[in-house]
Amino acid sequence: MKSPITTGWIGLGNMGTPMARRLLAAGLPVTAYNRSPAKAEALRAEGATVAPTPAAVLDAAQAVFLMVSDDQAIRELFTGEQGLLQSSATGKLIINMSTVSPGVSQEMAELSRGKGHAYLDAPVSGSVKQAESGQLAIMVGGEEGAFQQAEPLFAHLGKLALRVGTTSAGNNAKLAMNTLLGFQAQGLAEAVLFAQKHGLQTVDLLELIKSSALASVFINLKGDAILNENYQAAFALKLLAKDLRLAKAEGSNTPLANVVHQTFQEAEAAHGDEDVIAILKHLNE
Ligand code: NAP
Repeated sequence: MKSPITTGWIGLGNMGTPMARRLLAAGLPVTAYNRSPAKAEALRAEGATVAPTPAAVLDAAQAVFLMVSDDQAIRELFTGEQGLLQSSATGKLIINMSTVSPGVSQEMAELSRGKGHAYLDAPVSGSVKQAESGQLAIMVGGEEGAFQQAEPLFAHLGKLALRVGTTSAGNNAKLAMNTLLGFQAQGLAEAVLFAQKHGLQTVDLLELIKSSALASVFINLKGDAILNENYQAAFALKLLAKDLRLAKAEGSNTPLANVVHQTFQEAEAAHGDEDVIAILKHLNE
């Protein structure tokens, strides 16, 4: 019997942990690394091997996933003292699922090529619940051959993995998606505040929305969060503020995009660690 592909997972935050768990549950060998070691230790109990450095993950695994916060984290993981580029391995597949700038993907793809590795940018749509159930939508930029190699792995993580172009196309697709997410979060918050101002019950408004053509997975989840006053981050507001900055840097400059960008930048200081729907609190202040 052919032995399963060996995988590596770097970045065990809200998203990375459940995604790495899906690979373990599928019976794939997973070598894990997280900057704060405690999160990796938690996965050891579930069958993962814990590596001391990013380079050691690349030494151990054929396909290495990255799921970290931002451009800076990606740069450090590649170019740091014990980063991926310090490994003498070659011919590996590096799959960056973090939401980062198209520019950083171009740079990291180039550095990867220099070491004989393939690089895919493969950011995801969906949050913790979709990560847990393997129902993410994955948008991929990179060479077709690398994509085909990754497809069986993506099948454990998402309901759709779509190659949308060459390097960084996935990042641009993700910025388009998260611009829309910003509109929806702020739109829902503004509708709730308008209804409250006119004495309506939030529960009634949300029931109407859920039964209308406006209903969506996002609005249902965030509507429940508003009702339960649960602002604990499933997707941290500061991460969306970052994505809207990335979109702006890529030329996003349309009327709604400008307003949403500004609102989320203003909300970040007070509500950055809460969920995106804490934009409601900011607008109410
Ligand atoms: P998170 O819970 O904040 O986790 C961030 C991860 O990045 C942690 O493992 C953190 O390590 C690591 N990290 C941060 N800076 C680092 C650095 N300089 N060097 C090495 N590691 C570093 O974030 P998340 O919610 O999982 O999101 C991860 C990515 O997915 C982000 O790009 C986000 O925009 C995107 N995303 C999130 C969601 C969502 O709903 N949460 C949905 C779609 C896409 P430590 O544990 O040491 O801090």
